Amino acid sequence: MLRKTRLFTPGPTPLLPAAQNAIAAADMHHRTAEFREIFTRTLADLKTFIGTKNDVLILASSGSGAMEAAVSNLTSPGDKVVVLTAGKFGERWRDLAKAFACQIELIEVPYGQTFDLREIKSKLDGARVLYMQSTETSTGARHDVKAIAALLKGTDTLFVVDAITGLGTTHFDVDNWGIDIIIGGSQKAVMIPPGLAYLSVSERAWQRMETAKQPRFYFDLRKERKSAAKGESAFTPATALIAGLAASLDYIRRCGNGNLADGREALIHNAETSAAMVRAGAQALGLKLFAPTCPAAAVTAVLAPAGVDSSAIVKEFRERFAMVVANGQGEMKGKLFRIAHLGYYDYLDAIGVIGALEHVLLKVAPSHHIELGAGVRAVQEVFAGQFAEAATV
Ligand SMILES: *Cc1c(COP(=O)(O)O)cnc(C)c1O
Repeated sequence: MLRKTRLFTPGPTPLLPAAQNAIAAADMHHRTAEFREIFTRTLADLKTFIGTKNDVLILASSGSGAMEAAVSNLTSPGDKVVVLTAGKFGERWRDLAKAFACQIELIEVPYGQTFDLREIKSKLDGARVLYMQSTETSTGARHDVKAIAALLKGTDTLFVVDAITGLGTTHFDVDNWGIDIIIGGSQKAVMIPPGLAYLSVSERAWQRMETAKQPRFYFDLRKERKSAAKGESAFTPATALIAGLAASLDYIRRCGNGNLADGREALIHNAETSAAMVRAGAQALGLKLFAPTCPAAAVTAVLAPAGVDSSAIVKEFRERFAMVVANGQGEMKGKLFRIAHLGYYDYLDAIGVIGALEHVLLKVAPSHHIELGAGVRAVQEVFAGQFAEAATV
């Protein structure tokens, strides 16, 4: 049979057709009225999408560029910073803070788990910034941003959240919780290719930048703020990706019947429902989740059956079905595989990936004894339960 290539990876994610068309058609110069209009509109729409009144900026970099900016713009060498880590992306915050010679108070928990609030509270004293993920994409765990925000209320510690797979899959009340910088990336829930990072920046964070002494040039956020006020970016922007992002935000607005904030909620609900379907399907096949106590809506990490290398599962998905699922990263390679459901996924994608998983297990884990259809049925039951009454978008 034919095989269509399908991405089930937590970045890049499947592309929205309307965004692909906008990208292909984007033949323009960036210092023009035409581009300024798109750029200004996209920044305003991103504010609504993030759910903040703070300034929003777009950088021509992958998500990690905005992470670096959140360290280089907010700290001085020797500053005490708290870093929460429970996986590969937490370790990226640690490595960034180290590269900029911060004094790191590391709060580390095993992969697949989340943090103890009492431990965080006991380590905040004198911290200039706290860095964390909302979703640890390497493990499929969701962290409690709201509870950690509450610990920081009334302190001088700035709060920075890597929500690169959190935005569009998780509820945030950015301004009321007091998130000073929240970061997203283009290749995740907003359904366009890699290459853009976007972030919101609070007034407190702008003030800190005036005294922060790290060297910075390309990622000097103050330059971007000045340019954004004129509908421009400090350097040549990724014009085509911005046109794609504009189209994608228009689509999300349509998902909310003309209201972008409602569309964002619909997108979050879609990810949550897809996640519930994938979890139910995997568990019905006798598989164990890697982060069962705090599962994210963005991606589900599933442990390979005992004695089976998850690399064989990933390979079989690709060779037999041209489906790209993600292996474990670092020390989790070979132990788990990850199925993404952030952005442009629908019910039939969940049916497809779990249906394929049944065939994959029959092939690579014959002693695991699965019954064809058991996983798919579990997905169907979640769908029937969710949408028995409610209309879908
Ligand atoms: C994808 C991702 C990143 C950014 O990675 P880039 O490759 O730099 O775009 C950072 N944090 C999390 C949680 C992610 O999922």
